[in-house]
Amino acid sequence: MEDLDGHPLYSCNRCRNPIALRHNLLSKSFKAKSGQAYMFSEVMNVVVGGKREQQLMTGRFVVADVACNKCGEVLGWKYLKSFEDSQRYKLGRFIIEKSKILKEYS
Ligand SMILES: [Zn+2]
Repeated sequence: MEDLDGHPLYSCNRCRNPIALRHNLLSKSFKAKSGQAYMFSEVMNVVVGGKREQQLMTGRFVVADVACNKCGEVLGWKYLKSFEDSQRYKLGRFIIEKSKILKEYS
């Protein structure tokens, strides 16, 4: 039902900078250290940080931190490279921690 009321978007929990549109949300079933996280195909108003290698629950990846371009809060990460074929679908996509964003209606 949530798709019927307006055009929801997700904004930075700290400064209300718009971060992602509802129609770019791919999955709500990701986990980050802080809890639930969402996968988006596109985000906006962010700064993508330096690359680093990280061991995640689903394997080893090269990722980059994604931070709000207004307040600098780190919101999640972007997948840049996977070492396992089964995880390649994640490349170029963004994981944003649910606790860092707010759902709003435009
Ligand atoms: Zn912010």
